Amino acid sequence: MDTLPTPAPAAAPDGAAGTPGLDALVEERLARLDLATKVRLLQGETNWRVFAAPDAGLRQVVTSDGPVGVRGEAWDERDIGLNLPSPTALAATWDEDLVERLGLLLAGESRRKGVDVLLAPTVNLHRSPLGGRHFECFSEDPLLTARVGSAFVRGVQAGGVAATVKHYVANDSETDRMTVDVRMDERTLREVYLAPFEHIVAAARPWAVMASYNKVDGVTLTESDLLAEPLKGEWGFDGLVMSDWTAVRSTAESARAALDLAMPGPTGPWGDALLAAVQAGEVPQDAIDEKVRRILVLAARVGALDGVAPAVPPADPALLPLPDAPAVRAAARAAAAQGMVLVRNEGLLPLDGPALARVAVIGPNAAQARTQGGGSATVYPPHTVAPLDGLRAALGDGVEVVHAPGVRTRDVVAYAEPALVRDPVSGEPGVRVTYVGADGADLASEHRRFGRIGWGDPGLEHDAATARIEALLTPEVAGAWQVAAGGLGRHRLEVDGAVAVETEVVVPDGGEPDFVHFVTPPQAATTVTLEAGREVRVVLHVDPLRMNGALCVAELCVEPPVPDPVAGLEEAAALAASSDVAVVVVGTTAAVESEGFDRTSLDLPGAQDELVRRVVAANPRTVVVVNAGAPVLLPWRDEVPAVLLGWFGGQEFGDALADVLLGRREPGGRLPTTWPVAQEDCPVLSTTPVDGVLEYSEGLLLGYRAWAHQGSDGGPAPAYWFGHGLGYTTWEHTGVQVVTPDAEGPSTYLRARVQVRNSGARSGRTVVQAYLSRPDSAVARPPLWLAGFAAVEAGPGEEVEVDVVLAPRAFEHWDAATHRWVVEPGDFVLSVGPSSADRPLTAAVPVTG
Ligand code: BGC
Repeated sequence: MDTLPTPAPAAAPDGAAGTPGLDALVEERLARLDLATKVRLLQGETNWRVFAAPDAGLRQVVTSDGPVGVRGEAWDERDIGLNLPSPTALAATWDEDLVERLGLLLAGESRRKGVDVLLAPTVNLHRSPLGGRHFECFSEDPLLTARVGSAFVRGVQAGGVAATVKHYVANDSETDRMTVDVRMDERTLREVYLAPFEHIVAAARPWAVMASYNKVDGVTLTESDLLAEPLKGEWGFDGLVMSDWTAVRSTAESARAALDLAMPGPTGPWGDALLAAVQAGEVPQDAIDEKVRRILVLAARVGALDGVAPAVPPADPALLPLPDAPAVRAAARAAAAQGMVLVRNEGLLPLDGPALARVAVIGPNAAQARTQGGGSATVYPPHTVAPLDGLRAALGDGVEVVHAPGVRTRDVVAYAEPALVRDPVSGEPGVRVTYVGADGADLASEHRRFGRIGWGDPGLEHDAATARIEALLTPEVAGAWQVAAGGLGRHRLEVDGAVAVETEVVVPDGGEPDFVHFVTPPQAATTVTLEAGREVRVVLHVDPLRMNGALCVAELCVEPPVPDPVAGLEEAAALAASSDVAVVVVGTTAAVESEGFDRTSLDLPGAQDELVRRVVAANPRTVVVVNAGAPVLLPWRDEVPAVLLGWFGGQEFGDALADVLLGRREPGGRLPTTWPVAQEDCPVLSTTPVDGVLEYSEGLLLGYRAWAHQGSDGGPAPAYWFGHGLGYTTWEHTGVQVVTPDAEGPSTYLRARVQVRNSGARSGRTVVQAYLSRPDSAVARPPLWLAGFAAVEAGPGEEVEVDVVLAPRAFEHWDAATHRWVVEPGDFVLSVGPSSADRPLTAAVPVTG
């Protein structure tokens, strides 16, 4: 990671709020605005922008998603951006310094794109593995989430860009996300779901928080008292609360709540309706002033308020590195390797590169990796390095690398890739999009790389009525090629002038277009018989149906004939049998992991389990690499010698994977979430509300806490526990002493001083994890909970010592009767080890309360 810039301390650590005189200045600016202007500021001007108020010296403030990169204001490949590994991978590093440096890189990306406010990190929890945005959240554990999230915020804001901690709160799954009413007891809310927000507000002083779509206890979050207390009151959050996109459903109720900004705009329930509500006395003017104040403070912090020095001097965007600059690529590559979790290794890894003559790289995700999950977190990287590319480059010309996908996992036709089609006008790889007026005349046309064309603000460009996507295709093989039109609306797909598909796709059940239709557009598919080598022209005419009058998408989809499944498996097994080693890259698809919907199954899609079994039967020297952002079932896991979880590894995934497989780097990751053996074993599974209510009846028992609880009752154990992960060396945990409190400040309750010895033959890093439990407690508690962690590095044979800090909160519980944090006096048990299930060291910790 030495190639990454180190965050510079912000000029004022709290941002401009730490600037003397800022309060007075904000009051003075506020006083320049009349009521109508103030109210106008409170609803977005566009999908991504906040209104300017020149009279107050306020320029527009620009927001953008998200957690793995900065998409910018466009929603397509014309605006490229760095694609970091998925947040699950970042959390798997348990490496706050690294995450902080990545946050700083994202601040640079934001500045380069003129973005002031990054809509990240997502700190909701992995409550159920079915949660659609699992890949986008960090962990099942509140403390790991809090610490990684704080590091992310610190890094972003050290670059002068606001981080937005989202989604406040209990937005842990996607089913009916706009309406679901999440219910839980007060203690669970405080100790589990609010905990990451509370910690991040205290530790990293974020400049923005996003209120979620869902309800808690019957009240939608954009109207909820939870925005005032504990967020702004008890915790002292001094930043801006914005709504999730379209999450505001009322005028007066939401404006009376502590919500400051309704996004997006310009239409929505605030605006003129809010002005009228203020004039009618339904919303106090003070409430409006308070919201505008917070917008002005945010603007001051990011440098959008004239005459106020921003928290960090803005870098010259022209000097910021592009996402394919060598140092940025090196950082993304190192981060991906650091997050990879080696869950099983019977001695096969690391591979001995020089001893290899032929390597089979097999699987549906080998040549086309998934580098990120779907939904609003999507970014458009300059390139992606697939496992096949990475291994070919790393092994060099002396090693023959052979490939077969083995199985097909998609059940829809893929949108046209530049490798397959050409723009009929320019001849470049990709397609041509032409905008057509209501009179049928062509208005404008442009080259695009992919057959997926999404439109955000203001819908179809050039005020067009319809559009046309065209491409030339020269089939490499003869046969029944798959073609499809994707998206809602009216489509006509022609192949060489003959109509292949003509359809009007409406929302099933007559509903409104939704984000889901944008993310995974429904499609009308057919096959056309094509000759090898004879070029055809494929044209899709689209009249798309728009979500909120704007967001829409059309996809021109083309894929070669569906391969014969039996022959596919046989080819893969034959390649494995004739190679020195087989690397099988299995994983999920775009239809499986995305914002907008939850998963229905944890199985790998298609016949991937069969593929693994066939390959390992053909060659016992088989490594399985899992390319998924969230847990999947690995029923063959004990039949293969090595299993490596690569997550959605970001744009440099393939190179990072080669580094790890060939031992150039250690797999640095430890599981941020427990992986089950079988779906039905999961202690918390369903994300489906009953009569609109999603009851978190498990209370404090989620993740490893729940697995441990169910195990103590003789219930099933998981495949891999929270915290588990192997490196390329081995460790012995040799001693722990509890060091009594010292004068280091209020966040240090005590320290666990731990000795570990590298008992293997290589240098390495391990994460020392400290858990607490409380036998014979007077209050109900989880069997154990993570209380602290620290990473250590040591050379072969070396013994090192590390202090794990245990904050006071680790010993406290929320007392719902008195509504405060309390400590139950008595003995806590500290246990320390390399995972939640392997804690060889214990010590008693007497606490007096
Ligand atoms: C997501 C947010 C995102 C916003 C803007 C919403 O659908 O829930 O996480 O920041 O869209 O794209």
